[in-house]
Amino acid sequence: TELNLIRNFSIVAHIDHGKSTLADRLIQGTGTVADRDMKAQLLDSMDIERERGITIKANSVRIDYTAKDGQTYVLNLIDTPGHVDFGYEVSRSMRAVEGSLLVVDASQGVEAQTLANVYQALDAGHEIVPVLNKIDLPAADPERVKENIEDVIGIDASDSVMISAKTGLGIPDVLEAIVTRLPAPTGDRNAPLKAMLVDSWYDAYLGVVVMIRVMDGVIKKGDRVKMMQTGAVYGIDKLAVLRPKMVDWPELGPGEIGVFTASIKQVRDTRVGDTITHERKPTAEALPGFKPAQPVVFCGLFPVDAADFEALRDAIEKLALNDASFSYEMETSAALGFGFRCGFLGLLHLEVIRDRLEREYDMDLITTAPSVVYHLHMKDGTVRDLHNPADMPDLTYVDHIEEPRIKATIMVPDEYLGDILKLCQDRRGVQLNLTYAGQRAMVEYDLPLNEVVFDFYDRLKSVTKGYASFDYQITGYQEDYLVKMSILVNDEPVDALSMMVHRDRAESRGRSMVEKLKDLIPRHMFKIPIQAAIGGRVVARETLSAMRKDVTAKCYGGDATRKKKLLEKQKAGKKKMRQFGKVEIPQEAFINALKMD
Ligand code: GDP
Ligand code: MG
Repeated sequence: TELNLIRNFSIVAHIDHGKSTLADRLIQGTGTVADRDMKAQLLDSMDIERERGITIKANSVRIDYTAKDGQTYVLNLIDTPGHVDFGYEVSRSMRAVEGSLLVVDASQGVEAQTLANVYQALDAGHEIVPVLNKIDLPAADPERVKENIEDVIGIDASDSVMISAKTGLGIPDVLEAIVTRLPAPTGDRNAPLKAMLVDSWYDAYLGVVVMIRVMDGVIKKGDRVKMMQTGAVYGIDKLAVLRPKMVDWPELGPGEIGVFTASIKQVRDTRVGDTITHERKPTAEALPGFKPAQPVVFCGLFPVDAADFEALRDAIEKLALNDASFSYEMETSAALGFGFRCGFLGLLHLEVIRDRLEREYDMDLITTAPSVVYHLHMKDGTVRDLHNPADMPDLTYVDHIEEPRIKATIMVPDEYLGDILKLCQDRRGVQLNLTYAGQRAMVEYDLPLNEVVFDFYDRLKSVTKGYASFDYQITGYQEDYLVKMSILVNDEPVDALSMMVHRDRAESRGRSMVEKLKDLIPRHMFKIPIQAAIGGRVVARETLSAMRKDVTAKCYGGDATRKKKLLEKQKAGKKKMRQFGKVEIPQEAFINALKMD
C-alpha cells in the first residue's frame, strides 16, 4: 500500500467515555465485519476485559475506507491497553501509530485517565483529533467540554468532531477526520527491515502470535527474521492482518501493521518494544528506548487447600505463557505451606491475574498482603531488593530503607476536594499542585506507592461517591522510616499478614488490623490473643474470647432442615479456612484485614 493512503491511529479516552463503542462503529460503518458477525466491544476479547471495560492486551484492526476524495485508504486502529499498570505497553503501542482520536464524554469532560493517556499520545508525537462523544445525552454540554479540553490539556478543541457512538451520529465525520487530519506514516521500502514488536500473545491453535508495525523495508512469509534484543532467529510461518479476525497477507511494507507466527515457544521469548529485522541484511540500528516491563507489586498466592498446589502451578504457568510481564517463583510460608510469590505491573494487573486464576482455573486462593519493592541499603554497602516482608533481614545489618513513590493525579468535583486532601494526607502524601477547571479540581500528590497498593482506589471512589478519577506514575525511590510489622494469632506469627509500614503509622495500622481480625476470626473453644508487633514489641493487642455455646443451639431446638443447612454452611465455610497452629482463619480474613479505614 502507498504510504499516503495509510493512516495509523489509536483511541485515547477515560474509562466509559466510549472508546470501545466508537471502535465498534468504525469497524461496522466501513463494512470490515459483516453485520451478522458484529458483537459489542469487538476488540475486547477476554471476558475480564469485557466485564471490566478495560483493555489488557493491545489489539488492532485494519479497515478499508473509501473517502470523499474517492481514494481508498487503509486505516489501522491499535487499541492500546487502557490502564496505567500497562504503561510501558501503552507507550509502545502509541509509538506504532501517528495519531490519536481523543474521545471525551461530552457530559463529563476530561478525567484523570484522559490526561494520562493523552500525554502518552503527545509524548509519542501524535497529531490529535478531539472527539466529543455522547452528544445524544441531555446532559451533554459540548461547548463547556471544549473549553475544558483547552484549559486542562492545552490543545485546540474548536474543531472537535461531535458524535454519538451509540446512535452512530457523526461517525462519517470521524472517518473523514482520520484521513484529512492525521498524518500518513513515513518509511523507506528499500531500506533493511525494521519493525517494532508491538505486542504478542499465545493462541491455542497458532502458538505465539506477534503483532508488528513495519517502519522500513518489507516482511514476507518465509523470511528469516531476528529479534534484536534477544538475538533469536525465526522463520515466518504465517503473515496476516487483523480485520479483526486474521486474514493471510502476502507482505507488509512501511507503515503497515500486522501479525506473524514463527514457531515461537513462549510469549517470554518476545519482548514488547523489540526491533525485528532480517537475519541477512539486518538494519544497523534498533529502534530507540527499549526497556522491559518491571513488576512493581508483589504478593503471595497460596491454594486454600494445600492439595491444590500442583493445579495452581499448572494454572500459573499457563497464564504466564500469555503474559510476559507477570513473574512468579515458588514460595514456602510457615503458615500457608507451598505457594508462589508473584510480581505484577500494578494493582489492577494483580487483580486481573487473581480473578483469572479463580474463575478460569477454579482455584480458591489466599492472597497475602501486596508489597512494593523496597531497596535495602545494607551496612556493608550493598543494596538488596526486598519483595517480601517475610524476607526482611535482621535490622542490625540494614543501614536504611528506600521505598518507591508515585505522582498521583486526581480529578474530583469541588465538593469532595476536602475528603480527597484528607485521604492523601493520611497516606503520607505531599501535595504538589492544585488547579481548577470549572467545577472540577485537579490535584497532584507525591505519595508512597506502599500506601496506594492496599485500597486507595476503593477509598477514593467511596469518599467521592465514584466521582473522582485517579491515575499515577512511579517517580523514584526515597528513604523513610520503615519497619516490618508482624501479626501473631494465638502467639504464632502469621507471615502472610506481615507487612512493611511507616514507623509513625505502625500503631494505628496494627490496631486496625487486630480489631478487624478479631471480627474475622471465628471464636474457638479457647481464648485467642491477636497481636501486632514490631520486632519483639507488641504495638496493638485484642483478645478473642472463647465460644460458649454450640452454634446450632440458636436454632430453636427441633427444626432439622435448618440445623442441617447451618451445618452445611459451616462445612462449606470450613473449606475456605486455613489452620494456624490450633486456630482456623477464614480466607476472607486475609484480604479484609488488609483494608484500611
Ligand atoms: P470505554 O470504556 O471507553 O470503552 O467505553 P464503552 O464504549 O464501553 O462505553 C461505556 C458506556 O457508555 C456503555 O454503556 C456505552 O453503551 C455507553 N456509550 C458509549 N457511547 C455512547 C453515546 O454516544 N451515547 C450514550 N448515551 N451512551 C454511550
Ligand atoms: Mg472499552
